[in-house]
Amino acid sequence: MESRWDDGDASRCEGDDLALRVYTSRLLGQEEALVLHGGGNTSVKSVYKDFFDRPVPVLYVKGSGWDLKTIEMPGFAPLRLDETRLLAERESLSDDDMAAQLRNLLLDQTAPAPSVEAILHAILPAKFVDHTHTDAIVTLTNNPKGSAILADLFPDCLVLPYIMPGFVLARQVAEAVKTHDVSQYQGIVLSHHGVFTFSNDARLAYEGMIELVSRAEAYIERHGAHEHPKAEGRLDLLGLARIRRQVSAARGRAQLAVVDLSPQMAGFAGRPDVAEIATRGPITPDHVIRTKRVPVILDQEVQPAVPEVERFASDYAEYFQRNATAGLTMLDPAPRWGVWRGRGALAFGSSLKECGVISDIARHTQWAIQVGEALGGWQALPEAELFELEYWVLEQAKLGKQGKAKPHQGKVAVVTGAAGGIGRATGERLHADGAVVVGLDIDPSVEERLAGDGLVGRTCDVTDEAQVSQAIDDVVAAYGGLDILVCNAGVFQAGDKVHEIASADWDRTLEVNLTAVQRLLSRAIPYLKCAVGASVVVVGSRNVTAPGAGAASYSVSKAGLTQLARVAALELAEFGVRVNTIHPDAVFDTGLWTEEALERSARRYGMSVDEYKKKNLLRAEIGSDDVAQLISTLAGDAFAATTGAQLPIDGGSDRVI
Ligand code: ZN
Repeated sequence: MESRWDDGDASRCEGDDLALRVYTSRLLGQEEALVLHGGGNTSVKSVYKDFFDRPVPVLYVKGSGWDLKTIEMPGFAPLRLDETRLLAERESLSDDDMAAQLRNLLLDQTAPAPSVEAILHAILPAKFVDHTHTDAIVTLTNNPKGSAILADLFPDCLVLPYIMPGFVLARQVAEAVKTHDVSQYQGIVLSHHGVFTFSNDARLAYEGMIELVSRAEAYIERHGAHEHPKAEGRLDLLGLARIRRQVSAARGRAQLAVVDLSPQMAGFAGRPDVAEIATRGPITPDHVIRTKRVPVILDQEVQPAVPEVERFASDYAEYFQRNATAGLTMLDPAPRWGVWRGRGALAFGSSLKECGVISDIARHTQWAIQVGEALGGWQALPEAELFELEYWVLEQAKLGKQGKAKPHQGKVAVVTGAAGGIGRATGERLHADGAVVVGLDIDPSVEERLAGDGLVGRTCDVTDEAQVSQAIDDVVAAYGGLDILVCNAGVFQAGDKVHEIASADWDRTLEVNLTAVQRLLSRAIPYLKCAVGASVVVVGSRNVTAPGAGAASYSVSKAGLTQLARVAALELAEFGVRVNTIHPDAVFDTGLWTEEALERSARRYGMSVDEYKKKNLLRAEIGSDDVAQLISTLAGDAFAATTGAQLPIDGGSDRVI
């Protein structure tokens, strides 16, 4: 590992301890092999000027919820240094008391909660303290020969056995500081946990970390443990959707499933011994709250019921029974990641962000496990220690901050005709309600109009079977399944009386509004059958129940579409797939209506534009957002017992009623 120190960047922080602390913290954060997603923490001891301009010795320590990669000055919690040190003198301190006391010692009440390792930072006798959970060193400790390897490799470090992080770890280090002159050490290596380096000089603390890690990396290379089998990842889309459905059932809500088919992961998943080595435990207990103790091992060929997931859940319940103390409630028994034999790996989560974190940890975990195997046998901590951390209040509190789930959280939706009007509004609504959404449209502007984390626009001609097929497959490959399908794309042919319609116009309207939907459904149905709360919403038209003269092809196509939806509702009910139709009318904020067209129509009725827009029983003005809201609700739990229904959204029409 190379030092990323840059004299120019560092000189801009001169004279400002906290600025320098931010700088080297970010250097550590940039290195995935050192810290992953909020792991690790850093501190600096300095002087704080209080309200009365009096100097107070302070420990600025990383606040929880901040990531070293992106941390800024407000990410450091300023603690009264002397009193924080005094806490380490206590015989014992409960988690609640520690959190409360640290909060009391904050010099700024708006600061984030200090790291659970704050006391440890306070007692180390150096200005700058750097702490990481570096893969290379922790991997060496997950080995039967771990102690010997560490003694050999780090004679200049204090090596301590694993102990629970938080107050007990601070106490352990406090004892060591009393009996050893810690300043003569290059660092402290904590088995199964990580490394501390420290110095009065920011650069020395940082580069000390890089040096220790490089030593471990060199050891791994020297022993040929860094080369692992590679293979080509292979996907089975239907199998993936089945796995996702089972995992969602175990979790009690919809989960995304993101695959990793990289040559490294596929190589790991292809090892004959993968089931045995992947289930011995994680790199560090710190990962357990994100990934659980072990992944689920999935057979290469997936059965419809995926019994592996059920087995995982019952094993998890037994693990809980074996280790639980009175008063604990079991967390959900769903796996967070899976090794799919001969194919690759899967990360399960309620959001793409959660899947990304898990996927990254899984990637580092397979590397560490294979290194461990090559060095004499991967050996994680005993499950009792891992359990203790998984159910540790302070760790659980990190997850609690994620807030309440949205109605479509973890679901995957496809909306056609999504570049504007009802389609675009529906895509945005479903996304705001928690779903990952892919919007299709023949108009390439959909790609800019729908853009965000989990909101994707894709150019696709719904009348082109190959394009539609590819789009659906890509959605399943990217997110693990398809739960909500909104068939909205349509064309409107104005003024076409029955005897005047050009054949090409008739054919085109029926092709887009009717035939394309049948083709789309036929492609989506195999996945919808293994979806979570599957729902199809078809956008019909008021013209179905109350047609007008001069829109023959449109009215006929939408009537056919409504009948198609009714038949689909009958055929799919046994698989739990609901199919409902909405009949909007007078939605004027869509591409179909221009100002001139509105004025022309209003004049025809002898009305103002405003009167014309509300030409319905309720005198309601209906916008695309209102229709989108109805579609999202119809796709959700409120309508879980409704299928084959037709719902008008037209402000009320005496012709329909
Ligand atoms: Zn740590």
